[in-house]
Amino acid sequence: MIQIDRNHVTKNELADLLRREDFRDVYELADRIRAENVGDVVHIRAILEFSNHCRRVCRYCGLNARNSALPRYRMKPEEMIETAQEAARAGYRTLVMQSGEDPWYTPEILGEIVREIKRSAKMAITLSCGERSRDVYAYWKECGADRYLIKQETADPAIYASLHPDSSLEERVACLKNLKSLGYETGSGFMIGLPGQTAETIAMDLLLLREIGCDMAGIGPFIPHPDTPLRDQPPGSSELCKRAVALARILLPKANLPATTALGVLNGKEKNDIFSCGANVVMRKVTPTSYKRLYEIYPASLTDTDILADRRQLEEQIRHLDRIPL
Ligand code: SAM
Repeated sequence: MIQIDRNHVTKNELADLLRREDFRDVYELADRIRAENVGDVVHIRAILEFSNHCRRVCRYCGLNARNSALPRYRMKPEEMIETAQEAARAGYRTLVMQSGEDPWYTPEILGEIVREIKRSAKMAITLSCGERSRDVYAYWKECGADRYLIKQETADPAIYASLHPDSSLEERVACLKNLKSLGYETGSGFMIGLPGQTAETIAMDLLLLREIGCDMAGIGPFIPHPDTPLRDQPPGSSELCKRAVALARILLPKANLPATTALGVLNGKEKNDIFSCGANVVMRKVTPTSYKRLYEIYPASLTDTDILADRRQLEEQIRHLDRIPL
């Protein structure tokens, strides 16, 4: 079987692996490392998309502040708490609270919501609300937040700058390092298929995950949104995505690696396949239906939300893959 030295593998070696004609032995290695380090459990996380307001202008994202075609919403704190409680009753143990970068939710407002969800729903909380100061992250940790997701998006500073006219890779990585040093379980990740990306760029992305010491990494395809400047770009390759997930498993044996929702959008079958390439997490939307349709990062076909029925169906699908839903 192929051997990859996770601590010393170089950018060029990773790029060569990504370009291989036959990747089967790398998938097998990743699957073995997954089984040995995180077992057969697939963690099902509830994701609540509580606001689609965003002050950022990321050129790939349907929520970007310049997209005037998108009706905007904000969930009230009570609605968020009720939804969290319903998700907990359905068996979810973790709630991912995600939004655009929306300053309406001040540190105090969001902190109180986190406290109340922890108190009444007893779930682990992952926040994913963008870039904030170290002090704000520290405050939310005090309020009970356990984990934070903020993807690096791309490890190439020039591509990052071209896609984010209002921020830099340096600032993004500083957020990740702050979160890690504050004791959060820290999640990064990146998109596959961004304009200008090469196998070398993806290799740099993988090495950055290792450098940060990520506890979680979401790697998913870029999907073009018709109301963004990247509307005419092709979507990212799902095969390349799976290869990147497999290499991430090899570099970060104990990390939680989701089969990202975006991959399921491209091809339902790939989403199942990804569980044999190193992934061990899946996220399920619990966002109330009326809001869910407006959280349009990229176009996707969505069904109405029935939190309990959705979860039971997903558990069944996971059991069919001989894995254990949790
Ligand atoms: N505002 C927070 C942040 O910036 O981290 C969280 C919300 S943001 C919409 C969540 C993720 O959506 C981003 O990290 C990005 O990777 C992903 N995303 C946005 N537009 C996308 C697209 N067109 N295709 C695939 N993923 C996309």
